[in-house]
Formats: sequence, structure tokens, C-alpha cells
Amino acid sequence: MNIKSFLNKLNYIIKKDKKDNIVREINATNFARMKLVLIVFLMVELLFILFNDVPYMINSSSEVVWNHNGFLVLHLLIAFVCSAGLILIETLNRHEKHRFENMRKFLIPVLTVLLLSLLAVINGLDQLLHSNISSVFIANLIIFSAVILLGFPLNTVVYSIPFIIYLGGLIIFQQDAGLLISNAVNGLIFLVAVIIISTVIYDNHYERMVENMVLEETILKLNYLSNHDPLTELLNRRCFGEKVTEKMKIINETSNSSALILMDVDYFKQVNDNFGHPSGDIVLKEVGNILMKHIKTNDLATRWGGEEFLIFLSEVTIKEAYEAADTIRMTIQNNAIFTDKFQINITASFGVSLLQGNSSNAFDISYKAADAALYQAKNQGRNIVVVASTD
Ligand code: GH3
Ligand code: MG
Ligand code: MG
Repeated sequence: MNIKSFLNKLNYIIKKDKKDNIVREINATNFARMKLVLIVFLMVELLFILFNDVPYMINSSSEVVWNHNGFLVLHLLIAFVCSAGLILIETLNRHEKHRFENMRKFLIPVLTVLLLSLLAVINGLDQLLHSNISSVFIANLIIFSAVILLGFPLNTVVYSIPFIIYLGGLIIFQQDAGLLISNAVNGLIFLVAVIIISTVIYDNHYERMVENMVLEETILKLNYLSNHDPLTELLNRRCFGEKVTEKMKIINETSNSSALILMDVDYFKQVNDNFGHPSGDIVLKEVGNILMKHIKTNDLATRWGGEEFLIFLSEVTIKEAYEAADTIRMTIQNNAIFTDKFQINITASFGVSLLQGNSSNAFDISYKAADAALYQAKNQGRNIVVVASTD
């Protein structure tokens, strides 16, 4: 990855609204969890239908006294909601398109309300004989509040709807006023508990995700800082060295040659003296930009020190390397650098050398040759490119 695309990525991560990202990740987690819940529910319902409802249909005097055909319809409905939910989740997972974003947002709360409401009805009817609040329904509520991530106040809405349906059933069918009140009070205590559980779990999850994102961002920034020169944002010397070694290993296998261009800004001390150190910094930054614009994705550029830059050109002939250096030389010569106060014209001198072979000191040999060529360029009056002699 070159610096430009890296910076773009970094900016993207920093600028992008974190909240959006987290909500999207929470949605993804919910989708995965809801899928599991639906599969388990579907299996349970199918077993229920097979072992309770079907035997009752065949023989209505069956042992299962609480069963009647209304239950079959309800069990079938739950199985249907589970299947439809699974299909929807799978479909939305496949089309991560923006136009499904609203559906994605509401699918999990809606499925939760639907399933819990159906369970409220079926459990309510089931409990009519016992007159107590159904532990099965409460267990389902707790499972949903702990497994599905819903924040406040959405969770209050989602868990209250099935609960109201459940209590409504009790109010209509419960004849004993004492039992009705105790069931209503117990139910409300459970509802509050479920909302608290859900809120705490959601908030913890949210916080953890924020921490992870900040950590990820910090690692990226640290990584960037440890590999780049803070002024020009070119690779620093250490990172450049590592990358050159990596590239040379690959290039040696193809037996193509590479090249080094050592570049030094001419009379840079005078730039500092005439325009001030901050202007000198702007000049160095601009030189860095020019270098980045002129190298290819496979090439590397570093600020070797002070006002000296080193470029590694992958798989080039010495002629191509010379031409690349001369293009950079002309660009620097022809483009004045503007600070808020000054227009600064600079030139630079270049030493170019071939980088060949796979000996461990190939780089050092080539660097020394480039340095000697640069020295010659300075001696020959500056603003020129000198190619190192091959011997
Ligand atoms: P030559 O053409 O022979 O290369 O002359 P020169 O003046 O460029 O060479 P010299 O090595 O004498 O000067 C380099 C100057 O670069 C000296 C130093 O103050 C300046 N310099 C080094 N690093 C920085 C920096 O980060 N910012 C600024 N503004 N100046 C720097
Ligand atoms: Mg210089
Ligand atoms: Mg110098």
C-alpha cells in the first residue's frame, strides 16, 4: 500500500462516524445470534408439532389434556415466523446494499416482538389452568434480552408489547382477582428486570466496540508514525530498509535489476538562511510530494536524512532510472514552491546507481556508488543527474 492510499484509509477510519460503524456491527452480531435463536426455536416447534399436536389431531382423547387445535395453529405460526425470519436474514446478508438498510435495522426488533408475542399467547393459554405467570414465557423473555442486542429505549418497546399481550390475556381470562394482581405485579418485576438486563448488555457491548475501534485506530496511527518521516510523510529510513530487503528478495528471483537514486537539495542551507527554517520545512514537504507523484506503486522513497532523499526503483534498467531521476530534477527546477510569504525556487542533484545481485551487501555497494555519483553531481555544478560508473 502506498502512502496516499494509506492516508486515505486512515482519514476514512478517523472521519467516518464511529456510531454508524458500531451500529452496523451490532446489527451484524444480532443477525448471527437471531439466526441461531430461530434455528433452535424452529426445531423445538417442529418437535412440539410432531409429538404433541399431531397425536392430538389423530386422537383427541390423547393424554395431553391442554392441547387443542388452536395450539397447532399457534405452533405452526411460530415455525412459520422462524422460517421467514431465517430466509430474510439470509437474503439481507447476501445483499449488503444500502436500500435494505432500514429493513436491516428493524428486522431484529420486529422478529423479537413477533416471536415473543406468539409465545405470550401460547404460554398464556397454556397457563390458564395453572393461573400463574408462565415461567416458560419469562425464560424466553430473559433469553431474548440476554442474547439479542437492543439498547434503551427500543428494548422497552420490544419487550413491553408481548408482555402487554400476555397480561391482557391474564386480565381477560383470570377470574381470581388476587391471582390476577399477583401475576401482574410479578410480571412487571420481570419486565423491568429484562429491560435492565438488555440495556446493561447492550451498553457493555457498545463500550467494548468503541474501545476496540479506538484501539484499532491507535495501532494504525502508531504503525504509521513508526514507519514514516513526520515532516514529509515519506517512509522513514528503517522502514525503507526493510521494504527494500523484501523487494530485493522477490526481484532477485526474476534476475531483473533495480536502481537507487540518491538526491540532495542544492544550497538548502541558504533556503533556511534566506526564508527561515519553517519555510525550509515546507520546501522539504513539497519535495516529498513531488517524489511520491513520480514513483510507481512498486517503488519506494525515503527521507534519508536532512535534505537528502533516497529512491528505490523496482525492475528498471539504468537508462530508465536516469530518465526517472532527470524528470524529477526538471520538475523540482520548474516548479516554484510557495509558502504564505515567499516563492522559493530550488534545484537538486542526483546520483543514480544500479542495484543488482543477491549478495547481502548489494544495497550498501549500490548506495555507495550513488553517493559517489551525487558527490560528482555537486562538483559538476549541481542540478544534474550523474550515473554511477559500473566498476
Ligand atoms: P549542497 O548543495 O552542497 O547540498 O548545500 P546544502 O546547503 O544543501 O548542504 P548542507 O548539508 O550544508 O545543508 C543542509 C541543510 O539542511 C543544513 C540543515 O540545517 C538543513 N536541514 C536539515 N534538516 C532540516 C529540516 O528538517 N528542516 C529544515 N528546514 N532544514 C533542515
Ligand atoms: Mg544539500
Ligand atoms: Mg545534504
